[in-house]
Amino acid sequence: MHRIRLRFYEELNDFLAAERRGREFVRSIPRPTSVKDLIEACGVPHTEVDLILVNGRSQDFSYLVRDGDRASVYPVFESLDITDVTQLPDRPLRSTRFLADVHLGKLVRYLRLAGIDTAYEQDAGDVHLIERMLQEERTLLTRDRRLLMRRAVTKGYLVRSDRPPKQFNEVLRRFDLRRWIRPYSRCAHCNTPLQRVPKGSVRSRLEPLTDRHFEVFSQCPECKRVYWAGSHLQRLDPTVREVLSPG
Ligand SMILES: [Zn+2]
Repeated sequence: MHRIRLRFYEELNDFLAAERRGREFVRSIPRPTSVKDLIEACGVPHTEVDLILVNGRSQDFSYLVRDGDRASVYPVFESLDITDVTQLPDRPLRSTRFLADVHLGKLVRYLRLAGIDTAYEQDAGDVHLIERMLQEERTLLTRDRRLLMRRAVTKGYLVRSDRPPKQFNEVLRRFDLRRWIRPYSRCAHCNTPLQRVPKGSVRSRLEPLTDRHFEVFSQCPECKRVYWAGSHLQRLDPTVREVLSPG
């Protein structure tokens, strides 16, 4: 048997059984295996990992762990530049293009209202999601840990919270998105960038009195929905509204 000592850091502990969090533990395996497989066998999707030190040296996912190895596994760092030490595939630390799985409809709406490019298909299967993720170089947002463990998934994030307003803040924080927020630049319904339009051209589509209080209007060239500062905010959770409100 090969006995490997493992320790996971920071939010990677979210994925571990309680008795393994924040401390070193031992896994026994019959033969040397890739450190990636060992990490996933502990419940941690590889997409969450940005740095692996084995016996103090940075290794990539293919490294074969063997008896006596000691592995330290770190999450994606958002505020610390570790490009000098990491052996994992070069990838930007921050991502601003997303693809959400079917269970995240409300989060998708919030991100789009904030102007964040977020693709979404209501009835897409896993294979289709992964294909689109790769083709369009998007980061996959999901609540499904198994999906992130699929080999083909290169960029993904497991959304921890189950409440959409919290999910919204979680994703903004995790990907450091606040400086990319551009309210009313993208259609909440279909993700298409909005275009400025003269008030006269959309007056027939507005609710009564709206045209008296606002001057700047945008329209989705795809689905023709009309937006203005303050539109689509009324029924939103206050924490989301605060992020999206001008000023
Ligand atoms: Zn639209």
